[in-house]
Amino acid sequence: MNDFHTRVARLNDVLCAVNALSWDARTMMPKGGAETRGHQIATLKGIAREMILAPGMHDAVDAALETTADRDPRDLDRRAAEAVAAAIDHHSRIPADLLRAQAEQSTLSGAAWAEARATSDFAIFRPYLERTVALAREQADALGHDGHPYDPMVRIFEPGETAASLSTFFATLRDGLLPILDAARGRAQPRTDFLYRDYPEACQQAFALETARLLGLDADRSRLDSTVHPFEISLTRNDVRITSRWARTYLPMSIFGSIHETGHALYELGADPRLTRGAHATDMIGLYAVAGTSFGMHESQSRLLENHVGRSPAFWARHFARLRDTFPDQFADVTEAEFVASVNRVEPGLVRVEADELTYDLHIMLRVEIEMALMDGSLAVADIPSVWNAAMQRDLGLQVPDDGLGCLQDVHWSSGYIGSFPTYTIGNVTAAQIMAHLDATTPAVREGLDRGETTALRDALFDLVWRHGRSRSRAEMLEGIGAVANDPQAYLRYLKGKFAAASDPAGS
Ligand code: ZN
Repeated sequence: MNDFHTRVARLNDVLCAVNALSWDARTMMPKGGAETRGHQIATLKGIAREMILAPGMHDAVDAALETTADRDPRDLDRRAAEAVAAAIDHHSRIPADLLRAQAEQSTLSGAAWAEARATSDFAIFRPYLERTVALAREQADALGHDGHPYDPMVRIFEPGETAASLSTFFATLRDGLLPILDAARGRAQPRTDFLYRDYPEACQQAFALETARLLGLDADRSRLDSTVHPFEISLTRNDVRITSRWARTYLPMSIFGSIHETGHALYELGADPRLTRGAHATDMIGLYAVAGTSFGMHESQSRLLENHVGRSPAFWARHFARLRDTFPDQFADVTEAEFVASVNRVEPGLVRVEADELTYDLHIMLRVEIEMALMDGSLAVADIPSVWNAAMQRDLGLQVPDDGLGCLQDVHWSSGYIGSFPTYTIGNVTAAQIMAHLDATTPAVREGLDRGETTALRDALFDLVWRHGRSRSRAEMLEGIGAVANDPQAYLRYLKGKFAAASDPAGS
């Protein structure tokens, strides 16, 4: 096993160096460094690929598989050997030419998308997206599938899911969501004027950092910095970076964005130290997260903290005074109840990242529907705007004025990511399943939350999710709490309790 562990640890070092360079590129690097940095990251990823596909690694994995074959299926070394074997299989299927073509394409496509979005001109982006989809279909064929070409793409982000499993899941969720949305839309809109006042960035940052620390973001093992697009990235479990953005005239963005990223960070920080330099710490398939078992499980941790904790009245019963002290003038005429109501309002909008809790998943479903159809060839890129606009009208009753606020709003497709969108909704649903389980089994968690306290919640999440890192799948962790992956019932009950009840002040 020694050779195996040494090889994987060295590979892990290279991948963590990629993350360090990526963090710097997105956070600190001056614009002029972009081209060189692109080469540096490509070189390191190439080295990682060579290390994965080296004959020595192949032999080491075979030996590790043999040594651990009789052990419990959940034995850490056995899991590690299987994970690396799967990574070797994945990478050996993708031709180097295709990888190169995709890397080049994402650079060109990113620039075209930025221009298309700024001018709301889909025609500029269209040929680039056509090429991206063609390359994605080539990748799907190289990876192999026996059903839908979307399957191997989704697997990169959310192992265990397929086009078929997701179609059933989203159909059930949609049927449950629409009546709740109908009920919520009948409700009077709360006051929101104060959210758009002038909020100096430094004060927002100070408030966000203090909140993150109170929620458990370890000061010795993490940082919070500023970027246009918030994200979380890990260099090791002892060095986890998050970023947030400070919209000067819209306060909720920084508060809930920071709580969201803190949720991602706590997951990484909570990984069992035994998993940090071994195979489990390395995401060799996608070169993304360090510790999380899947994108959907990661998102469940961020959405749980953001929505179940951060938007709750009990949380603000504890933190509102601190907010008002930070912004005394802006909050001079605002009550705690008004603030809580404003950040929980339901207001269908055009933009996903600004969507409320109840309409968010409808934005996701539209993107997934389009991705699947692009992959199986039933939708042409040229027809995306019309499909998009029709769906916004159908689901949210909104007219899309231009493609910048429509199908050009997200960065994902321009970076070549096809198959990641489902994980946002999987995160929402999984978060509700975990909270339902904790409510049923661990009353200390809710008692703590009712006091604005998250210690018991953190202990429970550490035990159920964080410490396992990538050594258990999302389905296995859910099975451990008696839940089934993709069962939206707990989520629908949560949304109904929160939004449908509030829509009817008379109570029924
Ligand atoms: Zn997230």
